[in-house]
Amino acid sequence: MARLFKNGVIASAGSSDLIEGDVLVGDDGTAERVGPGIEESCVQPDEVVDCTGCALVPGMFDLQVHAREPGGEHKETLATCAAAALNGGVTGMVLMPDTSPPIDTGNLVKSLQDLVSETSPIPMLASGCLTKGREGIELAGFSGMASRGVAMLTDSDRGIPCPDLLRRCMEYAKDFDLLVTSHCDTPALSKAGVVNEGRVSYQLGLPGIPAISQEIAIDRDIRVAQYTGARLHLQQISTANAVQAVACAKEAGTRVTCEVSPHHLLLSEKEVKDYNTSLKLDPPLRLPGDVEALIEGLLNDSIDAIASNHAPHTEFEKSADFASAPFGVTGLETTVLAIYDRFIKEGAFGWDLLIQKYSQAPREIVGQEFHEIEEGQTADFFVFDPKAETEITREYLKTKSPVTPFLGWTFSGEIRETVVG
Ligand SMILES: [Zn+2]
Repeated sequence: MARLFKNGVIASAGSSDLIEGDVLVGDDGTAERVGPGIEESCVQPDEVVDCTGCALVPGMFDLQVHAREPGGEHKETLATCAAAALNGGVTGMVLMPDTSPPIDTGNLVKSLQDLVSETSPIPMLASGCLTKGREGIELAGFSGMASRGVAMLTDSDRGIPCPDLLRRCMEYAKDFDLLVTSHCDTPALSKAGVVNEGRVSYQLGLPGIPAISQEIAIDRDIRVAQYTGARLHLQQISTANAVQAVACAKEAGTRVTCEVSPHHLLLSEKEVKDYNTSLKLDPPLRLPGDVEALIEGLLNDSIDAIASNHAPHTEFEKSADFASAPFGVTGLETTVLAIYDRFIKEGAFGWDLLIQKYSQAPREIVGQEFHEIEEGQTADFFVFDPKAETEITREYLKTKSPVTPFLGWTFSGEIRETVVG
């Protein structure tokens, strides 16, 4: 069925200007025509979607999603994860391999890919573990996973404890031209910490995670990447020194990229009050000065990408006391809205920066092509109404685990529809 999206403006990665334009999506899901003033009478669509006052924005791509299937289907499934993604304007993602069983062989990658193609209307790229069972002891099956085309190798929320093992991971990964992705944390420093170490951890009487826990891991991983020549991607950087370290490494020519979460761009440890477990994140929310440095890093390209770290845990699991509740919250459905509300609406930056950081760069980091909304490409965009509002409620959220620090918040703007193929 052919659909004509009429009277909207088109956002792009290439310019902060929004250009008037209509989009005709053909029967086969291709954007057949893109441009101003496409006449209904000429193209005879089956449906006209009036987009007056709305922006058409290229679909987003999330580098860090825990879809929980297989093994954690009580938290999320591939189907509910895809529904959440579409609800949030996200049209592609990388799945973390920390499922049960962990994805650490070519065969497991293949079965996950089969499951995705049966279940999901959008691309969900498999990643694989660096070490067998994510145990940090011996290398996982690199060649099998490489032949199945994994997007990256990562032990997900666990770092590689032994630097010699990390070195061998990077050497092998380089042989297969695979991206190594690090969760930057030093367990010997984080210990049983649950919030940022500092004023809030002392006030609440909770064990803290010091900033150096992340910073030392980043420094080490960058050194090993420089030594081996492997490509390295750092997940969820959270401190001012971390931004600085990545900027220096880039200046020295290291093949390193990094991401930041929307939560770390909007919230600081000051929000952690009342033992609210929807603010228990790994890495933890840091100081207001760190938040400023992260925003600055996004603007000056020290930070390449935004990634939500969509990590669903059931409301029951998150209702445990702060120290025992699991780390992580959902993010696929709130990232675009949160960034629009806090930054784009306020004029801090334009749609172009969000598209660069949450669509173009993440796709390019894992070797996928990015397309603007243009003729001849598969339709892949969402319709955003800046005059509407979205209240983040359980009903709004399509994820199986509606836990987010933004629950009860009202954001400016609404994603009316996500169109993909
Ligand atoms: Zn994660």
